[in-house]
Formats: sequence, structure tokens, C-alpha cells
Amino acid sequence: MAIPAARPVLLVHAGAWDMPEAERGPHRAACTAALQAGWAALLRGARAVDAVEQAIAVMEGDAAVNAGTGSVLTREGWVEMDAGIMDGATQQVGALMGLRTACHPIRVARSLLGAEHVLLGGSAAEQAVRDGGHATQAPEAFITARERARLAAWQADAARRAPGGCFGPRAPSGAQPADTVGAVALDMQGRLAAGLSTGGACGKPSGRVGDAPIPGCGYWADEEVAVACTGWGESILRVGLARHAADLARSAGAEAGARGSVSVLAQRVGGLGGLILLRRDGTHACAFNTPRMARGWMQQGMTGPAADA
Ligand code: ASP
Repeated sequence: MAIPAARPVLLVHAGAWDMPEAERGPHRAACTAALQAGWAALLRGARAVDAVEQAIAVMEGDAAVNAGTGSVLTREGWVEMDAGIMDGATQQVGALMGLRTACHPIRVARSLLGAEHVLLGGSAAEQAVRDGGHATQAPEAFITARERARLAAWQADAARRAPGGCFGPRAPSGAQPADTVGAVALDMQGRLAAGLSTGGACGKPSGRVGDAPIPGCGYWADEEVAVACTGWGESILRVGLARHAADLARSAGAEAGARGSVSVLAQRVGGLGGLILLRRDGTHACAFNTPRMARGWMQQGMTGPAADA
């Protein structure tokens, strides 16, 4: 089917949570830099999926956010990263769980599009990093002083160590660091794509996987809608948030899809989080039920990227 030309649009996010004032500027800056890189790719005629990869790779390289270096730590004190990407034109997916050495998990995920196996964890995930010749660094190099301090605070909080998961048996307050990064793009050929990259949840047990690498939960893209989520991963998994938002936006429009699905997240499972959503007609929306969400967008007619946190 011929896909008509479209005006490119790019949205990014850097997490939905109760972000301290001092972190707002660095999160806005991360979004702006990601938009500049992804937008340049779109203007060169790149596929939406390549623009998503470029934008997310920039944020993975920014220690201010929870992806790549600067990721949150497991309760054992290590970084384990999840990432996923989806090409809406082909509905191909690439995703990895628990990476420990890849500098850019999103690039590894991108390399799995069209591969035999699309969701890899454990030794298969690390093998994909090696086979693809992807950039790596020692596990220690991902750990920042900020995240050591956050983990120490988490360990000191007995309530968060209660059985029931990294957030405890109940929903987190929203103060839990949740600055996962994501992007959705529409390219000049009218193709959509979505992707996410994250260190997951602070204090998670080694091996815990959230929504970020799971298509339909953390992210989704088809020929009509692309969505990238962030927030309390366990709740997002339980409602299949990204697919739910896409289906709602298909029939009700971008704004209603974004807001309606975040309402469902809150009402059905007491969830917390947010999402960015983009339709093939170029309409887009962002919704969240946390105190703050870092996000930004760029489209034709704007003199530069817009970002807020
Ligand atoms: N959703 C991510 C997770 O639960 C965390 C985040 O969005 O920051 O792994």
C-alpha cells in the first residue's frame, strides 16, 4: 500500500514522577537535545524508527535521566537496562531485558527489528550486544553518585522494602525516580514508530522486568498510532497501557486516547504514569497523573523544540 507524504512530528519524554525542582532543567535539556537529534534525522528523510533510535540514544548518553549511564540501581547496586522499539509500518519489534554493558540499549533493540527472536533477556541479550558489535562499557561505569545516594535512601526506607515488589505492595507516591526515556515519531513517508529505554525502578531485584521492553505495554506503533509510556511499570503492564491508548486514540482522537487511557490506568489498578501519543494525521497528546512529566515535541512551523518538565 502506498503511504502518502506527511509532515514529520517527533515527541520525546524523560519520565513521569514527582521530579525535584533541581532536576527539571536537566530533564528539559535532555528532551531538547533528543528532539534536535531526532528532528535532524527526520528532515534528512530518515525512517520514523531511525529518528526514535537517534532521539533515545541521545538521552541514554545523558546521566541526568534513567537510561544508559545514570540509570537507577538494583537493590544489589547494579544497573540492568530494558529497551524496546517498534516500527509501525511493519509492526516489527526489537526488545531487550536486563542489559548490563550496552551503552545504547535502544541501538541493540533496533538491530533486532526483523530478526528471528524479538524479545531477548539473559545470556541471549548479552550475546546480541556482542554479535552486533555494539558499544559497551564496564558495569561500574553506568553507576553515578546520584543513583548510589538514591539507592541508599531507598534501602533506608523500610516501607519500600516490604514484600510485594520494588515499590512495595501498593502504588508508589510518585516520588520514586521514574525518568525512563521514550520517543514517538512520524516521518515524511507517513510511517510511525515508538521506543523506550530505561534502567527500570530504583531498588528492583535483579531480573525484575517492567513495561519498557514489552510491546503493547510500554510502547506501541502501528500504521495509525504510536505511543510511549513511563511510570509505575507493574501497573502499566496490568492494563497494557500503550495498546489501550492506541486503540482509544484510533477511534476518539489523540487527546481522548491519552487522557482516557491514563484514567483507566488510575481507576483499574491504581496506577501512576504518563504517555506521549502520536497519530498518523500528525495530531498528538501527552497525559500523566504524576505531579510532573518531562516531555517535548517538534513539528514543522516551530522555530525550535518545545520541552517542559
Ligand atoms: N516504567 C519503568 C519501569 O517500571 C520506569 C519508568 O518509566 O521510569 O521499569
